[in-house]
Amino acid sequence: MAETLESVMRRIEARSDELVALTQDLVRIPTVNPPGDAYRECAQFLGSRLARRGFDVEYVRAEGSPGDSDRYPRTNIIARHAGATPGRCVHFNGHIDVVAPGNGWSFDPFAATLSNGRIYGRGTCDMKGGLAAAVIAAESLLESGLTLPGAIEISGTVDEESGGYGGVAYLAERGWFSPGRVDHVIIPEPLNVDRVCIGHRGVWWAELETQGRIAHGSMPFLGDSAVRHMGAVLERFEHELMPALAARRTVMPVVPDGARQSTLNVNSIHGGEAEGHGGLPSPCVVDSCRIVIDRRFLVEETLEGVKAEMTGLLDGLVKGRKGFRYRLKDLFEVLPTMADVEGPVVSATRAAVRAVLGREASIVCSPGTYDQKHIDRIGKLKECIAYGPGILELAHQPDEYVAVDDLVNSAKVLARAAHALLTRTP
Ligand SMILES: [Zn+2]
Repeated sequence: MAETLESVMRRIEARSDELVALTQDLVRIPTVNPPGDAYRECAQFLGSRLARRGFDVEYVRAEGSPGDSDRYPRTNIIARHAGATPGRCVHFNGHIDVVAPGNGWSFDPFAATLSNGRIYGRGTCDMKGGLAAAVIAAESLLESGLTLPGAIEISGTVDEESGGYGGVAYLAERGWFSPGRVDHVIIPEPLNVDRVCIGHRGVWWAELETQGRIAHGSMPFLGDSAVRHMGAVLERFEHELMPALAARRTVMPVVPDGARQSTLNVNSIHGGEAEGHGGLPSPCVVDSCRIVIDRRFLVEETLEGVKAEMTGLLDGLVKGRKGFRYRLKDLFEVLPTMADVEGPVVSATRAAVRAVLGREASIVCSPGTYDQKHIDRIGKLKECIAYGPGILELAHQPDEYVAVDDLVNSAKVLARAAHALLTRTP
């Protein structure tokens, strides 16, 4: 009997035990980041499996990237399977690193226990389940004997949880995600099995210091308190900036709804002498106070505008508040990104969700960022989305899990989407 897309779907269903086992095998390699444990082992595990199934496999160590050492090599794996004739390339990218398990687990976080139709463990949801689903989807398509032009690629990359510099950013800088080489990228991050994530907001982190003059705490009038100056800054945030940001809505379909606007968080605050032995600091007027701000912005805003708004507020204090001085240092920035909703990768994935689940996928943007930022900015490839199994809110939590049904359904969606992208005309 000739293979059809429907028989590929049945093939995936028949392999659901294998999909569970592959997820479990990946979770049992504890690739905790930091420090970046067992990356090489995990990359080689994935690479040898794909090599046995006819993929050309390359390992790329991100030498010199943050955290890379002989003890903790930043080893990425890229596997490519070329089709019968030339054509487009569909790339599935998953990060192999996971965050530390933390406390509060009722399961061993690295045992990948199967219980009541769910696999529990660190990385089941974020995102080894998604990576396993992509592998089974690609293998099932290739083994079906359907004639497919172009190429399918699968990469397992490191350090997504710490910014992706030794992973997707490193590969993108070396052309691995450039248009011409890769046409469509799907990242099976846990965005829920019926949601297609087209991008994320922008990020600007900066350190802000207010400066004062030290003096004895019994005579504060002889000094100038950096903490009081910072208080004035926070007051402006509270009453001017934050309400203005909250009023700034966006066309980006960010979820949850509270993130569908500009936001500002103060990630930390430090000021004054450290407390000594008796739990008391020495009595001094504080001469330096620092905060780290975390500003998330929208496609409707520019990074320059976001920074100018902040310096405008601070310069206003310089003019209006006696003795106010500040220093602002950039720490980290990411531009907002959004794939074209009408573009091929979004359309193909939507159609696949409709066919597999019988309902419309919702189109969302992520409140935070993920490796799509590097594919967009460095790789210059807009045709990139995140779609994968797992519930977003479970990521990084104790008792993280992925449901087996979601794994199987997402594998089907990924196979259908890849098939549509490889065979589409023109
Ligand atoms: Zn993730």
